[in-house]
Parts: sequence; structure tokens; C-alpha cells
Amino acid sequence: MGGRRQQESGPKKVKATALQIEVSLEDLYNGKEMEVPIERHRICGKCNGVGGSDPNAVKTCTGCKGKGMRTVMMQLGPGMYSQRTGPCDECGGKGQSIDPAKMCKDCKGKKIKKENKQLQVEIDKGAPNGERYTKHGEGDEVPEAEAGDVIIIIQEKKHKLFKRKGADLFMEKEITLIEALTGLDFVLTHLDGRKVRIQNKPGEVIKPESVFTCENLGMPFHKRTYQNGNLFITFKIKFPNTVDNKSADLLKSALTGQAAVAPAKGGKGGAAKKDEDAGGPVDETCELKTFSENHRNTDHRGGDQHDHHEDDEDEDEDGHHHGGQRVGCQQQ
Ligand SMILES: [Zn+2]
Ligand SMILES: [Zn+2]
Repeated sequence: MGGRRQQESGPKKVKATALQIEVSLEDLYNGKEMEVPIERHRICGKCNGVGGSDPNAVKTCTGCKGKGMRTVMMQLGPGMYSQRTGPCDECGGKGQSIDPAKMCKDCKGKKIKKENKQLQVEIDKGAPNGERYTKHGEGDEVPEAEAGDVIIIIQEKKHKLFKRKGADLFMEKEITLIEALTGLDFVLTHLDGRKVRIQNKPGEVIKPESVFTCENLGMPFHKRTYQNGNLFITFKIKFPNTVDNKSADLLKSALTGQAAVAPAKGGKGGAAKKDEDAGGPVDETCELKTFSENHRNTDHRGGDQHDHHEDDEDEDEDGHHHGGQRVGCQQQ
């Protein structure tokens, strides 16, 4: 029943407080001095952590000799003892008792007080998601120990336009077919508010889902802010839903440099005629339908048999082949 060995090297330090703060991509781009509100326990300033108006008001508990914990021997039966260690009942585990008349009114003898504080944090340009800023000694305090640190962890907020990967930015841009074919010129408002004119090379065609690089329009490099990553733009092309015959002929002549074939009376334009001529007689014609999920035949026997996929293959012979529809083309 020897007492516990106390191993203490140097002053104790209170555990650090970790705090996550959400930071916008704009603030990570530009850098920002932020005020972070925290709630912490600090040594009571009124009694300087004594707990009473004078040091004599505080007495070491005789029951536990100030340890706060007490080991009690309990007799279970003849010659049988049990040892139990628990909080001291004389001082309520505090190890001390304070004369109620001299008890500090500010902290009510607890020696520490809760307080709110605004911590200044300098978010640097290009700081990554998850970056930690340590404010030494700004956390909780208890008597006879070093105050704990506050660790502020950056959590990058989602941005409505840009996605960030490392020092690069990604965005999608919808443009019209006309822009894709004849040239693109638009103004992008960047994360620092500056307006950047984006143009492609004259004569260059932008294809659907193609990716273009805007050099140096990415995030500032962290700790090397004189350099920037790149911005990658994926283009979505907005196609017209329909093109009438006259426009089709104009487009054709514009894109091929050939004169348009005069539209056939009451029939299709020159565009369709030309292909038929080139390919010779056809065996069938298929008109495209807009894709729908129920067009799929996910089963080898046709249709969608997902309702029965847990069953054995040879089990169902009694007409469970419903579900998916097949899209057929008409035989001519
Ligand atoms: Zn005690
Ligand atoms: Zn106090």
C-alpha cells in the first residue's frame, strides 16, 4: 500500500485547446487578420489564484494532506481488507479548505475564472485547409502550472465557383456554341475582387469538356506568395436545341467553305441529302431518342431484372421479364 510515485519533471502544462474556424477561400487567397472568440479558464485576478483574501485563509486539508485523494482501508471480513482510493470527503477532493469569511468573492474559492477573449490570428496567404496556428499560453490556466496553448485549425469553406487543389483552382464555365466556335471573351471576378478578362486564341475552337489553363490565376503559394498556382477552366458548351434548315445550310457553308445546296422542296435541307448520297442506299433508319434510364437492358435476357437479381438465374421461368424497355429502330 505504498503511495503513488509522483513523477514530475518541470512545471506542468495545461492541455492545449483545439479550435476549428471556417475560413473563406477569399480570406485564404488574400490573407486575413481574424478575431477568434474563445472561452477559457484563467487564474482569478482578484485573489491571484489563492482562492481567499489572504494566503492564511486557505488551509491544507488534514484528511488527505492536500492530495485531494484518500486511501481507505475497509474490513471485508476476518483478516480480509480492501483498499479503496477515492476523492477526500473532508475537502471534496480539493486538498484544501478555505475559510468562508475570507473566500474570494470573484472566483468563489475556485482560484480560476471563466472568461471570454478575442484572439488575433494572422491567416497567411495561401494557407492550406487544416493549417494550424498555435497561440502559446492563451488557453486554460490553473495554479502552479503553465497555461495551455490554443491551437486554431483552419477549415476551408466551400466556394460557389472555385474548387481548390493544392495551389491550383478549378472552375467550370458554360459558354454558348457560338462562343465555342467564334471566340470567347468574358470577365472573371477573382478572389481578391479584381476583374480578369479571359479570352481564347483567335480562331481556336473550344470543345465540350475541354480544359484550359489560366496561368498564375490560382492560389498564392503558401509562404512563397510571390508565386501563384494556375486556374483550370472546364468548358461546358450550351448547344441550341434546334437548328432550322436555313440556318443549317448557312452553318454548313460557313464551316465547310462549300456553297449550300438549295433546300429541297418540302423536304430536308441539303445537309441530310449529301450524306445519303455518299452512303448509298440504307437498310434502316434510326431516329435518335433522348436517353432515359429505362432504356437500359441491364440483363442479358433483355429488360431490367433488378427485382430478381438475388434469385438464381435458372429459377424464374414464369415471365418475370418485365422492367426495362428496349429502344428499337424501325426496320425499313
Ligand atoms: Zn482532503
Ligand atoms: Zn479569486
